Amino acid sequence: MSDVLLTLNAGSSSVKFAVFLVCEPQMEMVASGQIEGLGATAHFKLHPRRGQSGDTSVAAGHPLTDHTAAVGAILSWLEQEHGDARVAAVGHRVVHGGVELLQPAIVDAEILAVLRRLVPLAPLHQPHNISGILAATAAFPDALQVACFDTAFHRSHPFTADAFALPRRYYDEGVRRYGFHGLSYEFISERLRALFPQVAAGRVIVAHLGNGASLCGMHDGKSIDSTMGFTALDGLPMGTRCGQLDPGVVLYLISQRGMDANSVSDLLYKESGLKGLSGISQDMRQLEADGSQASLDAIAYFVARIRREIGGLAASLGGVDAIVFTGGIGENSRRVRAAVLSELSWIGADLDRHANDAGAQVISTPKSKVVALVMKTDEERMIAQHTAEAARVSGAFATSHIASSPGNLMASPV
Ligand code: ADP
Repeated sequence: MSDVLLTLNAGSSSVKFAVFLVCEPQMEMVASGQIEGLGATAHFKLHPRRGQSGDTSVAAGHPLTDHTAAVGAILSWLEQEHGDARVAAVGHRVVHGGVELLQPAIVDAEILAVLRRLVPLAPLHQPHNISGILAATAAFPDALQVACFDTAFHRSHPFTADAFALPRRYYDEGVRRYGFHGLSYEFISERLRALFPQVAAGRVIVAHLGNGASLCGMHDGKSIDSTMGFTALDGLPMGTRCGQLDPGVVLYLISQRGMDANSVSDLLYKESGLKGLSGISQDMRQLEADGSQASLDAIAYFVARIRREIGGLAASLGGVDAIVFTGGIGENSRRVRAAVLSELSWIGADLDRHANDAGAQVISTPKSKVVALVMKTDEERMIAQHTAEAARVSGAFATSHIASSPGNLMASPV
C-alpha cells in the first residue's frame, strides 16, 4: 500500500484537488481535478496529465450538492482508481491565518476554533475552507489534516506595510494589510532560491497575475510589502475585482445610491475589474482576441496599474533587482509582460522581445539592470510540501523509506 497526499482548495462553488504519490524523499503529482458548480449542475473533471489532451469528466454517481458530497466523490474516485493508496494527509488551502497563524498548522479543535474566529475577516472564503476541512475529516478520518494559509508568507511585513492610518484600536483588533497569494509567492521564492540564488537574495517584485492578481515585494526571499490588503480586493484590478479604490466611492454608493453591504460587495468582487471595464469578459485571452476599444482600455488599465504598483514596491524595497511574472496571465500573456516592461526602462528593465515572444524564462537582455523572469507557480505543490513536512514530523507516513529532506521536494517531478 502506498501513501498519498491530497491537497484541497474548497471555494464557494468548487473544490479543486491534487493527489501526490509519496515516495520519500520525493513526491509526484499523479492526478488533479476539480468539482465545479456545486449544486444541481455540478460536474467532476480531471485535468489532463502529460501526453493527454482535454479534461476528463468523472461520473460522480450522486448529486454534488455541497463540500461533503464533493469530497465524498473524490474519495470514491480515489478508491476506484488508486485502490491501493492510503491518504496519509490532506493539505488545505486556507485563505486566512490572521495574525497568529504564521506557519501551516495541523488541524485540531483549537486550530479549528481559531479558523472559525477568523471568519469575519474573510467571510466569502473562510467558511468554505472550513467546510472543506470538515468534509475531509469525515471522509479521511485517519489522515492528518493540515491548514496552509495564504496570509502566512506576508506576516514578515514591517508595521508601515501592515497598518492602515485608522485609529490604532482597529489595527489591534485585526484590521491590517494581510496580503494574499502567499502560497504562490512562497513557491516562487523557493524556486528562485533553487534556480537563481543570487537573484533570490536581492530585491524582487513578483507579479502573480491570474483571475486574482497582486504583486509582492521580497527581500532575500521574504515578503516585505504586497499590493493586497485587508481583503483580496485591494491593489491591482483583477478579472472581476476592482483593485485599489478610493473608499469615498463606497461611501457614495451607500449614501447616494442606497446600496447595501451585499450589493456593494457584489459590485466590487464580481462586476468590476477587467469584466467591468471592458463590459465583455474577465478573461484576458478573450480581451486580447477581441480588440475592441473597450477591451484595449481594460488591458491598458490593468498594465498601467501593474507599472504604478511596481514603482511603489520598488520604493518600499529601496530598488529592484528582478521582476518575476507568474499566474495564468503572467505565465502566458507576452503582450501584458511586454507592455509592463517596455515602460520600465527608468527602473533599469530592458525587455528582450525575442525571448519574451519565444516564451523563454529570462526575458530581459544581458545588459538589463533588472532581471525579468517568467516562472510557473504551483500552489498545490507548496501545500503538498508543507503537508508532507507536517506528516513526517507526526510520523503519519507508513511508507517512508529514506530520510527526508524538504528541499528535495521542490526538485521532484510534477
Ligand atoms: P486563477 O487566479 O483562477 O488561478 P489563473 O492563474 O489560471 O487564474 O489565470 C487565469 C487568467 O489567465 C485568465 O484571465 C486567462 O485568460 C489568462 N490566460 C491564460 N492563458 C493565457 C494566454 N495564453 N494568454 C493570455 N492570457 C491567458
